[in-house]
Amino acid sequence: MGLDLGQERARAVRALDNLLALIEEAERDLEQAQARLEGLLPLRVVWKKKTCGNDKCRCTRGALHGPYPYLIEHREGKKIEHYLGKGWTPPEGAIAPERYNALMQDFKSKRTRLERLMGYLDEAVEVMRRY
Ligand SMILES: [Zn+2]
Repeated sequence: MGLDLGQERARAVRALDNLLALIEEAERDLEQAQARLEGLLPLRVVWKKKTCGNDKCRCTRGALHGPYPYLIEHREGKKIEHYLGKGWTPPEGAIAPERYNALMQDFKSKRTRLERLMGYLDEAVEVMRRY
């Protein structure tokens, strides 16, 4: 009986060590995912060639102006284009929204994983308190 309890205890300690190692790993993963998001700015920018409105201009015969950058915004289901100006260059950290969303999904799933592991740790501590 005493031996069984000793084995039981050793198993519990091993399980707890494994859990703590998993938590450490999950924390590192989460930090990395967070670092990848740091300073990023999701921007939807498209470059378009345009006509200028002058009906004597070459652009009326297909030689369009540009390309010029436009910021695309979706507001209340409508797509709005904002002209960014001829000399515009992307700010540091500008990234396509799809890429940003993928990184954000990764971050969130890693945070969820860490929270789940922390939940197991809470349960383990609770169980151990009963002994
Ligand atoms: Zn023109």
